[in-house]
Amino acid sequence: MFSLNHYSDFSGTAVACQERSISWASFYKELVDCCQRIAELRRSKHRAIIIMHDEDLAYPVYVAAALVSDLPFVPICKTDPEHKTKQILNKIGSGICIDTSSGLIKTFERKALDVPTIPASTAYIIFTSGSTGDPKGVMIDKHSILGFVDWFNSNFPAMPSTAYSLSASYSFDLSLMSIFPFLANGQSIWRLEKGEANELPTVPNSLKEHNIHWVSTPSFMQLKLLNKALNENSIANIGVFNFCGEALSIQLAKKLKDRFPKSRVFNSYGPTEATIAISTVEIEQPDQQSFNSLLPIAKLQYPLQLLDSGNGFELQINGPQVMSAYLGEAILNTPDIVNTVSKEPVARRYKTGDIVDLNKGHIYFKDRADSLVKYRGYRIDLSEIDAILAEHQHIEFSKTLAISKDNSIIRLVSFCLSESPAFCENRVKTHLSKRLPQYAIPSEIRLVDSIPISKRHKLSTAALLELG
Ligand code: AMP
Repeated sequence: MFSLNHYSDFSGTAVACQERSISWASFYKELVDCCQRIAELRRSKHRAIIIMHDEDLAYPVYVAAALVSDLPFVPICKTDPEHKTKQILNKIGSGICIDTSSGLIKTFERKALDVPTIPASTAYIIFTSGSTGDPKGVMIDKHSILGFVDWFNSNFPAMPSTAYSLSASYSFDLSLMSIFPFLANGQSIWRLEKGEANELPTVPNSLKEHNIHWVSTPSFMQLKLLNKALNENSIANIGVFNFCGEALSIQLAKKLKDRFPKSRVFNSYGPTEATIAISTVEIEQPDQQSFNSLLPIAKLQYPLQLLDSGNGFELQINGPQVMSAYLGEAILNTPDIVNTVSKEPVARRYKTGDIVDLNKGHIYFKDRADSLVKYRGYRIDLSEIDAILAEHQHIEFSKTLAISKDNSIIRLVSFCLSESPAFCENRVKTHLSKRLPQYAIPSEIRLVDSIPISKRHKLSTAALLELG
């Protein structure tokens, strides 16, 4: 994966969507050209390759080019707020920038006095929602990618001529669940178009004979299944359904078993901080495997460990799949993450914030210990929204909550205290949209007269939810 040679002998279709397809021969040619251009432009001060994307088909070429060029890649979506893009560029300081739609490759330079360290072992940096209002850069090492591919290949059934489906945005590491096995194994990618939520997915002609390894969040599939025509007759060749990123419900697993009786369903689990996914459990009999209405995410074994959190068990991940650190946040380089004596990645630990149950050796995801939520498959830290609201001149205090129905989040609401007669919901949303991606903007900004306080003098989320 880290050398040009690795890609030279692959054949057939590399990447395809409904309208277009890129063969492995063209992929290789593009890759060679891109690596050459990077080598011409590259200077020792360059610290990373920014991949500015618009969810284009050619994106995996640039990921491969960054890996081969031995520079960490940083995906940024062109539709992200300008403020977020600037913050990321300032943290990187100096590097190479690739525009995936035009193929233009150029250098960039920011006048930052004090740029945070990027370890030489870094393969990519993915920026996620942070509680302070600033995006957090998760730095993942090259060896962690190799560890991920080993884990992937030994946990999912190998199928000849595999096409990994790809539906997630390139800015989330779920997209790498398809891209890394594709690059390592020389198989194919089926890029699903955005389209209507319940639009019937159609396998591109060039992949009709392939075996599909489906990768998505459960939410994405839930919406697709609203279309009753989605079943074994419309797509005959899905060998594996691999879900990750949020809880897989028993109902969804059963529906899939019903519509695709020959396919195998897997519930995978992992945070961005531990290289995409760290465990998977095949769901063969959803009812029998469930515990307290939850499906298992993992077996209790290395690299997972349970910590008694007083509030139940918190899941900790140990070992080389854990990030080296958040970019610029030295505080995470404490012994909790990296052994400060040995500096060995194997000594890394990451407390996930996931509260879990244990039953008969299996782990079940119950809840979060913090304000991070998964809404429509997106990771959103609700305190990040409040941190940005706190900077608004007309807001004295705010509390953003996720409103749920039947165990799934249906909307986000920010409850705000304001004494200003000029308070305006739309202006507050505009303020948020300068800093947050569209999916993280609460559907409602609710002005309240007071914030309810419980008997224990804490903010009463229960009372606020009643208002919701
Ligand atoms: P992300 O960093 O976006 O991949 O989000 C990681 C978080 O998503 C985890 O810490 C969990 O809270 C949640 N998550 C990921 N996979 C699962 C799963 N299979 N079941 C329940 N929650 C999950």
